[in-house]
Amino acid sequence: MHACAKSEPMTERRPIPRFPVSVVGSWPRPRWLLEATQKRAKDLAHLRDQATLLAIKLQEDAGVDVLTDGEQRRDNFYSFLSEKLDGVTLMTMADLLDFVEDKAGFEALLQTLDVPAFAIKNPTITGRLSRREPLAVREAEFLRAHTTRATKVTLPGPYLLSRSMWVQKLSAASYPTRELLCTDIVNILREELKELAALGVEIVQFDEPVLTELVFAGKAATRTFMCAALAAAADPAAELRLAVELINRVVADIPGIRTAIHVCRGNWSRKEDVLLSGDYDPLLPYLAQMKVDQFVLEYATPRAGPEALLVGLPKGSSVGFGAINPRTDPDEDPSAIAARVRGLASTLGHERIWLNPDCGFGTFADRPIAGEAAAVRKMEILAAAARQLRS
Ligand SMILES: [Zn+2]
Repeated sequence: MHACAKSEPMTERRPIPRFPVSVVGSWPRPRWLLEATQKRAKDLAHLRDQATLLAIKLQEDAGVDVLTDGEQRRDNFYSFLSEKLDGVTLMTMADLLDFVEDKAGFEALLQTLDVPAFAIKNPTITGRLSRREPLAVREAEFLRAHTTRATKVTLPGPYLLSRSMWVQKLSAASYPTRELLCTDIVNILREELKELAALGVEIVQFDEPVLTELVFAGKAATRTFMCAALAAAADPAAELRLAVELINRVVADIPGIRTAIHVCRGNWSRKEDVLLSGDYDPLLPYLAQMKVDQFVLEYATPRAGPEALLVGLPKGSSVGFGAINPRTDPDEDPSAIAARVRGLASTLGHERIWLNPDCGFGTFADRPIAGEAAAVRKMEILAAAARQLRS
């Protein structure tokens, strides 16, 4: 199989400069790739490779130090699991309307929140989960073969998966209890993480955007749209404790790999007022218990509140500091970003700060929130800020 047999020595990690510039994950996909994906074109595998090579080149040219493959092969950051796991069916929000209890209410909610019901797809459990093929190992091998720079791989977080994939009418027969589902999800992610560590990937990021839904959706909201969190959460505190437990079970005793968690407030619309709002304060006690090395958090959008809270994170951790909003036009001033990061570095320590956008540039393939030119320009601005910080 892969270059990850247990007897092999650990691959050497690639160097990462001070104030590393990285991305959160997704890169806008070329139009021709989207069309080929929709048509399930015969040469789709080849086109996905071509799109990935382009995403690598654009990131390198823009000055990104720690690259992803731009998630070019994925429909979105968690729906791609339907291509990799048995027991999962990919369904659009529109398909799922037939299976939620309050159809009219859910439809109205999607409209209010500007969620495109046909563009966003959810991997839904319709059988027992098993890994048909690795989730990201082959993609990581391809990425590492085509860049000499450090690499990042993104995976959906275990809590997000336990919420979004389970739809009662479709999933209860295979998973009558949540514990059973969580155990299978944790095992699948652990297997993946071990193989990515053996491959030499510099950082693996778990995406848990749905955590903000637990604290910001408001007590009145019995259900909101947040990356298809279809299973309504009963008790936010209990859910947050579960999220901590699950991520810690995933990363426990897997040495030789840097892990990260990404938490944002939604990235499905350029209408900032439909996305969730509130600072990280209510989440901080839970984040602080997570045994990951890096917290990738949004701070460019004013909806995220002040970065002063970051001193509450564990001292040994680093911050993937969101300094660019991927949903706005690229007109940020590198000097202003550098000045803000310098202020943060004076309290956290410069070695703990990476420069990131707030989120991906193409979270949902059919609903990109930025075009290629804007994404390139945004990363050039971040790289310019990093150069100022290093000098
Ligand atoms: Zn995000």
